Amino acid sequence: MYNFSAGPAQLPLPVLEQAAAELTDWQGSGMSVLEVSHRGKDFVACAADAESAFRRVANVPSNYRILFLAGGATGQFSAIPMNLAARGATAAYLNTGQWSKKAIKEAGRQGVDVRVVADESASAYTTTPEPGSFTVPVDAAYLHYTPNETIGGVEFPYIPDAGDVPLVADFSSTYLSRPIDVERFGVIYGGAQKNLGPAGLAIVVVREDLLGRAREDVPAIWDWKVMAEADSMLNTPPTFSIYLLGLILHWIESTGGLEAMGERNCAKAERLYAAIDASDFYNNPVQARSRSWMNIPFTLADPALDADFLAGADAVGLTNLKGHRSVGGMRASIYNAMPADGVTALIDYMTEFERTRA
Ligand SMILES: *Cc1c(COP(=O)(O)O)cnc(C)c1O
Repeated sequence: MYNFSAGPAQLPLPVLEQAAAELTDWQGSGMSVLEVSHRGKDFVACAADAESAFRRVANVPSNYRILFLAGGATGQFSAIPMNLAARGATAAYLNTGQWSKKAIKEAGRQGVDVRVVADESASAYTTTPEPGSFTVPVDAAYLHYTPNETIGGVEFPYIPDAGDVPLVADFSSTYLSRPIDVERFGVIYGGAQKNLGPAGLAIVVVREDLLGRAREDVPAIWDWKVMAEADSMLNTPPTFSIYLLGLILHWIESTGGLEAMGERNCAKAERLYAAIDASDFYNNPVQARSRSWMNIPFTLADPALDADFLAGADAVGLTNLKGHRSVGGMRASIYNAMPADGVTALIDYMTEFERTRA
């Protein structure tokens, strides 16, 4: 089965096989990793290994902390203002789609003075702002943006320049999909369930000088500094997700690291866009320079054929291609774990469907 779900998403088969093999006897313990104490030496070593693997793979400098937190990316929509901005302080946001909007809404709920300095709603979220087309207030506590909008299939082709203002980025749907220049960011965060493992885990990479700016009344589990000091184990962390993240990071290393990952992901996306663009039957609405490598929405010329397209795809092992309800049509999410063969199978199916049904 090739699973094109936007998330939770397909995981690498070798990782699933290893996890299955270890499920009843992890490291000779006679127990699964699900059943051991998070404070025991085996799990502490497992979490430390996942952290150091993340640091190696993403080339995270030593002045950044890596936190494994519960609550997904959505939890961080609230944690970001609580950790970086006093009530009434200014925070700048770029609005490029549904996930940006959710982050903006939560910042408003935390009493931050939200300034949306670029807003792509006029294009129905099919664009990203031109570099240099927006101004970040110098007194902003941070600039937040969404490098990849999972629903619209819109991706920034550049890292926004925030000057001295800390840049905060929701990498959920493009996390470790290619090399990343961590030093350009104050905070990188995202849920694991698209590129890096099971749902429920947020991975937050925060520059050390940004720790300790939290409001006094922030709940301890949302306080990055408290969590950093507790090695992300103030309370029981999502242990299985952390274990699986470690396996996935080792899989990324064994397949050539982020350099090779980026090349494979770029090639997969280019082939699918080329197939869409070569046809009058399929259409992707996104501005060329802002097309996502991860989430590729497309419509059929005749929406009356959507149901047949999806049923036929399922029948040949291509599943979860239905587009988000706000966009319609189809969406192929082709994250790290989607093999090139899966994209080839999708293109073959699309070509055949068009030939026989258009
Ligand atoms: C999936 C997603 C989220 C939400 O993640 P949760 O783990 O469900 O909170 C946030 N931002 C982006 C860009 C996403 O793709």
